[in-house]
Amino acid sequence: MYCDSWLSDEPQFRTKQLRHALFKEFVGSFDEITVFSKKQRDTLKKDTPFRSFEVISHKASPDTEKILIKFPDGKRAEAVLMKHSGRNTVCVSSQVGCAADCSFCSTGNLGFTRHLTDREIVEQALFFAQELKTRWQKNNPNKKWNIALAEPEFRIRNIVFMGMGEPLLNFENVAKAIEIFESPEAMNMGVRHITLSTVGIAVNIPKFLQLPRLPNLAVSLHAATDEVRDQIVPMNKGFSLKKLFSALDTFEQKTGRRIFYEWTVLPGVNDTKEQMDALGNLLKHRNAHMNFIPWNPGPSRIKYTKPDISSIRNMQQYLEKNYGITSTIRAIYGQDMGGACGQLAGRE
Ligand code: SAH
Repeated sequence: MYCDSWLSDEPQFRTKQLRHALFKEFVGSFDEITVFSKKQRDTLKKDTPFRSFEVISHKASPDTEKILIKFPDGKRAEAVLMKHSGRNTVCVSSQVGCAADCSFCSTGNLGFTRHLTDREIVEQALFFAQELKTRWQKNNPNKKWNIALAEPEFRIRNIVFMGMGEPLLNFENVAKAIEIFESPEAMNMGVRHITLSTVGIAVNIPKFLQLPRLPNLAVSLHAATDEVRDQIVPMNKGFSLKKLFSALDTFEQKTGRRIFYEWTVLPGVNDTKEQMDALGNLLKHRNAHMNFIPWNPGPSRIKYTKPDISSIRNMQQYLEKNYGITSTIRAIYGQDMGGACGQLAGRE
């Protein structure tokens, strides 16, 4: 873990204490680590910044919070906290910008700038964990924080790699971040509470399958024929749906778990009967869950129109009736603050 080198001159148990302070107590500064001497805290402060980024804006509505973060090299990214009936999910970014260039996505429109390190990814979730802990402490001034005892609304339950960037194009750092989210020595979230969403980099899926404990996999499908997918997801040209599904079938065989498929609804492009039939045929014998996302407007390369929810309901019914495929419509979080799917563009 990235913090393991911070106290390399000290005995091993100090690193354990440091992990505990960072990932269980959610301290907000090195000064709060009172099991360390003043001298040890000063050494930490001198050698290591407490956080790998500065939070330059923090917007909140009752169900969503979004932070815009700035790294020492001036690059920016965003992370989102979503609160659904007392259950918190953090959506993290894995890159600054994105190389996938999906025609409907505002992040894709920025182009790729750089990968985020494991620390830069993990600390997006840690920031929110620290915030939630501080709020709990305000409500419970006479109690000592213990993550196991805190009510669900003060804890992070799920992590989704659905912010800026394509996680399978930054796989090494993403794999290290997953380990920190998942490890009992660190955030102890359990792989079933972590979801990696990918545009479907078929050649990197075997690497993902090597992870010792596999998180959930979500695939941004968006179209069920190469002809349409090539237009809206340019990465498809390099891989094709056939290659993608042959890699995905290995995931299903290996884990027996279902794959989540995302489908951003673009009226006139991928909401046609032809696409729904192709989709039905693609998924009817697979263990799949469909998730429709109404297109969120933003500065994407191509402008689309917002779909009506009623037309998405019709698509759902058609798929269920003809192919037995169940689906959900993703709840829209943070559209008003530019924090919804595909709206993250690092702007103030
Ligand atoms: N690169 C990864 C992570 C992005 S996840 C991936 O492609 O899966 C965010 C999800 O929102 C993806 O399914 C993405 O295709 C979708 N999305 C992007 N722009 C969108 C927009 N403007 N409206 C709705 N969904 C969008």
